[in-house]
This record gives sequence, structure tokens and C-alpha cells, in this order.
Amino acid sequence: MLEIASKMRTLCFPPRCVGCRTEIQENQCRGNRATVIHQHEHITSLLDSHWCDTCLRILVLQNPTTCWTCGAHLNRQSPLGRNCALCFKKNFRFTRAVSLGNYQGLLQKLVIRMKNQHDEPLTIQLGNLLANQLIDSELICDVDLITAVPTHWWRRFKRGFQAAELIAETIAHAGHLQFEPELLQCKRSTKKQGTLASTSRQKNVQNAFRVNPSVSLQDLSVLLVDDVMTTGATANEISRVLLKSGAEKVYVGVIARGARVS
Ligand SMILES: [Zn+2]
Ligand SMILES: [Zn+2]
Repeated sequence: MLEIASKMRTLCFPPRCVGCRTEIQENQCRGNRATVIHQHEHITSLLDSHWCDTCLRILVLQNPTTCWTCGAHLNRQSPLGRNCALCFKKNFRFTRAVSLGNYQGLLQKLVIRMKNQHDEPLTIQLGNLLANQLIDSELICDVDLITAVPTHWWRRFKRGFQAAELIAETIAHAGHLQFEPELLQCKRSTKKQGTLASTSRQKNVQNAFRVNPSVSLQDLSVLLVDDVMTTGATANEISRVLLKSGAEKVYVGVIARGARVS
């Protein structure tokens, strides 16, 4: 009965792609998704009927050349081994980062829409795509718990929508992992990183975060989630406090990597 109701609903209201909002044909949903999402039945079913084939093919690149450390997508293999030139200079504290792609084109448009319009369905589906990428990278096998880059209470109060937290929760759900939304706290308000020059960003986030003392991190690997990582200053500073509080490793998962790397 439920199945009939679901089919009727699909006939009356065909699903639309959360990316480009075009109607998704039924044969697309059942089509050759295996060429794009090739890992898990579970993830495939989470993404099915939410993305059209065109958007999926742009957002899910097969075997992209990436920087192993910061997750930037590169035009060619880095001569510095698994690091790009930026990571080589910075020596990040986190072990590894994974992103859906660089902050450009369709991905940039979707991130802007997600944040400006507080688009929850789009945020959840971008979270599922990132979960797909994290599973593909096998990084997720080593993760014990997931948390998000925190927002100061005043900004939370004003905005009411926390993209990073919703993405983290979605990944935890898709990967059957523990989600700790209260793990990190802001000690003080910080300026928006996007408004600062690269050199000021590190200072802006210095000593701005603390770990909730009621959560034990001893020997655990933490996946820190954010919407965009640009210079990596925030992720690096949070990694410092997590490691200081006993975490064994910190991984980073972001929808888009904002650095200018090639
Ligand atoms: Zn689409
Ligand atoms: Zn890098």
C-alpha cells in the first residue's frame, strides 16, 4: 500500500534535482548511476531521486587528482608528492582533508545558495555527496566520531541555520558514525574569515575554541566538518585543541576547498 502511495506521489509530483531543479525522470533514478556513485547501495539510495545525472557527473569526479592533505582538486599530480605547494608550506596539524571539489563553478553556486537561502534539502544532499566521497577515500573507516566547526552563540541566534552542523549530522547518519554536536565551543566571537586577509585569519581564530571537557577524546580519531575550507586556519586551530585534548588524529571533511591551488 505504501509503495502504491509512493508511486502515485512520484507521478503527481516528479522529483526535482536539488542542484538545478529540473525534473528527474524515473529512468534516470534507476539508470546508470553505478558509473557515478559506485561504492555503496546505501549511499546510492540516499542520493537517488535527489540529483539529476548532469549535476552528479559534475559534482562526483571519478578518481580526481587531489592533494592528500588538504583535499584540493589539482589540475595535475603535484611534484611534491601527496601535498600541494600550499600544504608543503603550512604543515597542517590535521592528518588529511577530503572535499567534494574546489570552490568554483556549480559547487560554488550551490554553496552560496545553501548558505544564503538556508536551503536544508540542498545541504543534506551535499552532505550525502560528501559522505560518498569520504567512503570512497576510505578515510571514514578510521573515524570514531564526527563534529562540526562551531559557531558563536550570538551568530547562531541571529542566523538560526548551521550548515556545517547539518552536513556533519548527515555524514554521521550515512556512515553510521557517532555525531557529537556539542564537542567544540567558541570561547569568543571571531570575525568572518572570508572578510580577512590570509595573514590575519590565523590570528583571528587563535585560542578561539575549546573542547567540551565532558567528552573524552582519548585515542579517538575525529572528523571535523565545515562547509568551505579556504586557508585552513580554522581547521588547523581546532585540530590543535582536539589533539591537545587527547584525540589521536583529526580528519577534515568539507563541501568545497577554497584555496587557489593548481
Ligand atoms: Zn541537476
Ligand atoms: Zn594541499
